[in-house]
Amino acid sequence: MLKLENISAAYGAVQALEGLSIEVPAGGLVCLLGANGAGKSTTLNCISGVVPPSSGSVTFNGERIDGMKVEAVVRRGIAQVPEGREIFPEMSVADNLLLGGWTHRRDRAQLKDDQDRIYSIFPRLKERIQQNAGTLSGGEQQMLMIGRALMARPKILLMDEPSLGLSPVLVEKLFEIIQSLHESGLTILIVEQNAQLALRVSDYGYILENGELAFQGLSKELLQNAEIQKAYLGT
Ligand code: ATP
Repeated sequence: MLKLENISAAYGAVQALEGLSIEVPAGGLVCLLGANGAGKSTTLNCISGVVPPSSGSVTFNGERIDGMKVEAVVRRGIAQVPEGREIFPEMSVADNLLLGGWTHRRDRAQLKDDQDRIYSIFPRLKERIQQNAGTLSGGEQQMLMIGRALMARPKILLMDEPSLGLSPVLVEKLFEIIQSLHESGLTILIVEQNAQLALRVSDYGYILENGELAFQGLSKELLQNAEIQKAYLGT
């Protein structure tokens, strides 16, 4: 479904990615791991159109999307949950969700169905429909970010460090939700610092080091790899 071939990207003199190739099959749950600064967020940003790659190609369902604007990428069914919590703090929970459905704004019935679906996944958000998003707890804001991305009815969801800043209990819960979204057929590419957890739930993993691919393989095999255990899993 999604294919990055030989992607390089730089911020001025900083080379963030060098010849990276990764693939995400339809219905897959793939994780991208690596230390701070390895280039994980840059990879997601090259897919979503936030950062233009300096060379290489990004293909989505057979169409080249590198060089496209963010909105054009979103319209093709790619939604990103950015790192950190970029909600609109002065707006209500409901309005934040509606903004996520912007590309479907003319279809009110669908928007209502989509909102109901989000509230059934995250009942906590339903209890806080009219609350200003800025007053939600960290975990609730993370739920809202995921809900907002789902409102775009994505074919693939790009998630950047969803566990960041959440308590262990919430992280477990969040990953249960990620797994159930995956089981419902959604394709997911997830960037995580928590390599142990990401490899436990995903089918396939890529590990970046200094902007280049260091390892790739079935997640269950990566979990058993002694070198990876030592460097990334703290075991
Ligand atoms: P983290 O886990 O810390 O979020 P990451 O693997 O997501 O790290 P990136 O954010 O992709 O890493 O950064 C890759 C490299 O590019 C880093 O060296 C970083 O300092 C650099 N970089 C990222 N964004 C910018 C920017 N806007 N301007 C300049 N350099 C940047």
